[in-house]
Formats: sequence, structure tokens, C-alpha cells
Amino acid sequence: MTARLTVIGGYLGAGKTTLLNGLLAAAGGSRIAVVVNDFGAVNIDRRLITSATDDTVELSNGCICCSLQDDTSAVMTRLAGRGDLDHVVVETSGVGDPAALRTWGNYPGFTPGATVVCADSTAAARLLRDEFVGDTVARQLTRADIVVLTKADLAGQAGLADARRRCREHAADARVVESAGGDVHLKDLLPAAPANPAMGEQAPGDSDLGEPAPVDLDLGEPAPGDPASAKPASADPAAAEPDAHGTVHRSASVTGAGPVDRSALLAALRELPVSVVRLKGVVRCADSPRARTVVQYAGGRLEVTTDGDWRDADTSGLVIIVAGGGRADAELRSVSDRLAEVLLG
Ligand SMILES: [Zn+2]
Repeated sequence: MTARLTVIGGYLGAGKTTLLNGLLAAAGGSRIAVVVNDFGAVNIDRRLITSATDDTVELSNGCICCSLQDDTSAVMTRLAGRGDLDHVVVETSGVGDPAALRTWGNYPGFTPGATVVCADSTAAARLLRDEFVGDTVARQLTRADIVVLTKADLAGQAGLADARRRCREHAADARVVESAGGDVHLKDLLPAAPANPAMGEQAPGDSDLGEPAPVDLDLGEPAPGDPASAKPASADPAAAEPDAHGTVHRSASVTGAGPVDRSALLAALRELPVSVVRLKGVVRCADSPRARTVVQYAGGRLEVTTDGDWRDADTSGLVIIVAGGGRADAELRSVSDRLAEVLLG
């Protein structure tokens, strides 16, 4: 059996892991392997994948499309040779080019699936204008069969329309869907057999009545109007030309073993310089030592939530990503020094 290869891309903080979790939850009995690439040295996304899956491979400390090409090839070749997988889903790093991964869909053992690119509807228009990251965001969008406009409930109607228009400029042939509230409800995502059109309206287990309308994605086939011939046909991941994303973005990671003072952590997080485009992590707070406290910062918005029980094997870890190349180095250093102090108590 060949595995259908689905690629989830999109800029830092756009909601890729949320989408991935929705996809895994909707996967039923399909056998799925997941590849997660985190740009930072500590793979936070691996720890935020909530649904059980048969296999999860993490690729950290570099970008899956440029600096980790050897590791990526080894992983993808191994998965292609398995023969027992229905699906392989790759979550690219937030700076990565999804095209470098989608070409693997033509490799023996894989069937090409959709490339899904997440765009934060509250941030996409601004990011596309940004002198440092605009090119990276635009390029990701050009690769999309499906664009998911995330955080639609936070954007406001005018903001959402603007985000849709801006994304369309780079993804003219893609299907554009919205998701709201971070609770993307994905139905029939990964049909193991030919998709069943009768399952259209209401999937079993729909319990979110009254919530925003569920996003109904069928990742089974690439969107019409997006002929595969328009994309690189080579299975060589190096086929995509590089852009500057690897040098514009810098990351640092901090870890700590002991419980963290929540107010000290929040104080540090309230003073992030504008060059910080993404910060995420899982920490153990002294005031709730049995819980995993999840820190998410993207698009200028900070979210601190809890996600399940702290496990003995866990250590607190935060990844900070700045954009601006060498100009942001000093700020990255000062933010990571400050957070290291907080994590070390
Ligand atoms: Zn890359």
C-alpha cells in the first residue's frame, strides 16, 4: 500500500499543530505517521500533539526544507518503504517551504495529497507586508491547495476579508476556508477508502453545535484548478530554490528542571520586543505543578493555557524565534537570557 502524503505548512504561529491535532482526531482507524519539524532546538510541537498516533517523528533544530535535508531524506525514505501506512502527514517548520516536502508525494511508496497552508487571519496581511518575513509567508501561500484562514473569530469581518484578499493574491487557485476559535473541526480528512459523499453534513461525534461552522476539509485530493504539473515533479527535495527564511529567522531555546514562578514568567513575556515573531513552550509552574502549562505567543498575542498532566520525564522548555537576521541577535540574546533566569528560578 502507498501512503498519501499531506503537507501542512504556514508561518510561525499560524495554527499548524492545531490543524494537525484536528486531523488526527478525525482520522478514525487510519494508520498515520506524522513528521513534525520545529525550527528550534527543542521540539515543542511534538509535545503539543494530543492525539495518539502510531508514529511521530520529530525533526528539530533546523528547517526541514533547507538545513535538515539529509535527516528529512532519511525519514521520508524510511516511511515510504514501510508499506503499512495509510497516511503520512508532515508539519513543516513555520519558516519552511512546503514545496520541498510535497515533492516527496511522487516518490515510490507515496501518493501525493494536498498541501494545506495555515494563515493567521489576524496577522497575515501585516506579515505579507513585513520587510523580513513577507517573502517567506507569500511563498508558503503559493504552494497551497487549501489555505486555512485561522483565528477567524479574532480578526473581525473587515480583517478577515482583508486577510482573505491578501492570501488570494498569492494563492489564486487554492480553496480558502476559515476556521474559528482554534477548534477546527475536520471531517473526512484522511479517507482510507474512497471518500463517502454521504458523510457530508454531520459527522458522528459532532458535539460542537453552536460553535462556529466546522471546517470541512477533504484532504483526499488536491484542489481542482491546481494541476500537479504546476508543481515540481521531482522527488528531490532540493528542487525548490532557497529563499532567505533560514537566515532571517534565528531561534534560541531555554530549558529548566524546577517549577517556574508564573508571575516572573508573565512579566518577562509581557516585554517581548517586536522582533520576537514566535515563542512557545511547555513549562511546569510552581502554582500548578501537576499541570502542563502551555505558552503560546504569535502575532503579538500571548496565550497561557494548561494541557493535561505534567509527566515526570518532562522538562520546562521555551523556544524563542526572532525575525530580522543579525539585527535581531542582541534582542534574541536578551530575551533568552531573561527567560533562562525565570526557568532556572
Ligand atoms: Zn527551510
